Amino acid sequence: MHEFSITQELVKVVDEARVEGGGNPRVLRVKIVVGGFTAVVPDCVRHYFKMLVEGTRMEGAELDFEVAPVTASCAACGNVFDVVSVEFSCPSCGGGETDIISGRELFVDSIEVAD
Ligand SMILES: [Zn+2]
Repeated sequence: MHEFSITQELVKVVDEARVEGGGNPRVLRVKIVVGGFTAVVPDCVRHYFKMLVEGTRMEGAELDFEVAPVTASCAACGNVFDVVSVEFSCPSCGGGETDIISGRELFVDSIEVAD
């Protein structure tokens, strides 16, 4: 139920952003940036979102997902590189001791509301 709690949080953030400019606009589109390391399934989030916003001003909004790359740094040589597979090592020195420095993020990038 990883995605369910994430989606609840997203709905809260979107609703707050929706009323920020004043009024009570309808949400048309939501852009979500999700790090490649989060293992979040977009279709799952879409499903829960639809369920959670039924009967609200967010009903019918489209969710666009942008997957952010996973990057890591090498503990041995300090090289920073994009992670392209689950099993990886530093492409510069071959070291296996690495830290994920991005790819765990998940946030609402922008929302589009009707006038
Ligand atoms: Zn290295």
